[in-house]
Amino acid sequence: MSATWADFAAALAEAPSLPGALCRGQHHLFDGCDFEAGETRTEAAERHAVAARICSVCPELAPCRAWSGQFSYPLAHVIGGRVPAARRRTTDTPTLEES
Ligand code: SF4
Repeated sequence: MSATWADFAAALAEAPSLPGALCRGQHHLFDGCDFEAGETRTEAAERHAVAARICSVCPELAPCRAWSGQFSYPLAHVIGGRVPAARRRTTDTPTLEES
């Protein structure tokens, strides 16, 4: 069974509060590659590496990973220290990989 945006929205609604989240206010580092703005995959990967380093010292890493681990479908952004896999082609869908 494949997940839908409704599944994703439901999961977000159940997200823990994570009051110590270091990503708060840092979405520009964690968001997926912004192809529309002309961002390259290399630029996004560099940005995601910074985000993953932030995750590595985040006091909420354990609960964040426990919650975000339910996402088995591809995501384009960084969450819980996981970064999108490099895409082989522009049309490929990114997958999560351990950082
Ligand atoms: S582990 Fe990363 S994505 Fe999760 S709350 Fe911390 S900074 Fe945010």
